[in-house]
Amino acid sequence: MLLLSTFYACFPPFALADTQSTALEDDIGFSQWKESFKQQALDYGIRPAVIRQAIEPLSIDLKVLKFDSTQPEFTRSIWQYLDNAISPKRIKLGQALLQKHADLLNRIEVQYGVQKEIIVAIWAMESDFGRNYGHKNVLRSLATLAYHGKRAEFAQKELLAALEILQRQRFKPESLIGSWAGAMGQPQFTPTSYLKHAVDYDRDGKKDIWTSLPDVFASIANFLSESGWRKGQSWGVEVNIGKDFDWRLNSSAYQLRFIQWKNLGVNSINGKPFKAIQRQASLFIPAGRFGPVFLVTHNFDVIKAYNNSSSYALAVAQLSRLLVGGEGIQRAWPRDEKALTRDQIIEIQQAMLKAGHNPGKIDGKIGANTREAIRTWQLEQGLPGDGYANLGLLERIRKKK
Ligand code: CA
Repeated sequence: MLLLSTFYACFPPFALADTQSTALEDDIGFSQWKESFKQQALDYGIRPAVIRQAIEPLSIDLKVLKFDSTQPEFTRSIWQYLDNAISPKRIKLGQALLQKHADLLNRIEVQYGVQKEIIVAIWAMESDFGRNYGHKNVLRSLATLAYHGKRAEFAQKELLAALEILQRQRFKPESLIGSWAGAMGQPQFTPTSYLKHAVDYDRDGKKDIWTSLPDVFASIANFLSESGWRKGQSWGVEVNIGKDFDWRLNSSAYQLRFIQWKNLGVNSINGKPFKAIQRQASLFIPAGRFGPVFLVTHNFDVIKAYNNSSSYALAVAQLSRLLVGGEGIQRAWPRDEKALTRDQIIEIQQAMLKAGHNPGKIDGKIGANTREAIRTWQLEQGLPGDGYANLGLLERIRKKK
């Protein structure tokens, strides 16, 4: 693939620049870890020759540890995330690639039941259409994380899966290229996802998610299909919830049919009738009641199986729509709002916990649990329960104290 060779010109598969010497104690500790891991890999059923070849040359990658320990001070707002993910340039390139690979994508769409624009949108999000999927040796990244990282158990399991890939697919260890966190190739599959979902669509005997576009597209489609994608169904629609909306209905746990939503005063933003009125959907209000509001279906959740973030799922959803000439988001985001800091979010989470509403892990990140806790608290206070955390909410909480 042309793009790949250009890419490798900038980043050789083994980035030699980051093989700096590590502290002596780390060297000793890492050697000991390798010995015990080799035994584990043997017990797992990996052949000694594969283990030797893959594990012995590895050293700690300090850059991986640095990435793993970095916490951003500010959380990015969803509109900043979307601006970056769905740039006009990306839409244009995506449309051109959709055209260029139309035959292949049409075949895969028919076979797996996943719309081709969804496949291309995920391809864009994961690796910028295969142009940037990381330049790390995934074995080294995972070994570093397994030895030292915050998610050692996860990394160890993934490293065993990576060895299984080498054994089954007869790849050379240095061909498993990906991100510092161990996501591989153009679809950014973890090794366990690769073992479960990767496909040899061009039938050359290798599931090659690095250089074979047929394998890349079919692997993405197969991932979604095996995660429960419902054939041909939409991810959802932007809606208007009306003035007298009953905020008790705003919960991802609250599924209603489109026809029922309509009867409650929820309509599509462009005024067109809902298409599949018997299908179920729930409300998704990512930036409060003054921002865009969506009804999302089962397939929206399937996108989250690929990457468990609502912002990610919305980016894939919107990008896919724009790739086929659909409308962008109609309602404006509350762009003049300042982003909350991690500490401010932690303050909100602690306040919710104190008020008896479980925000999930107190981690300075807004997830489904925190939104749900806020929503319940808002309803309790007689406020519209949009579950949205902003400075206005924080001030209100502080006044209550
Ligand atoms: Ca292949």
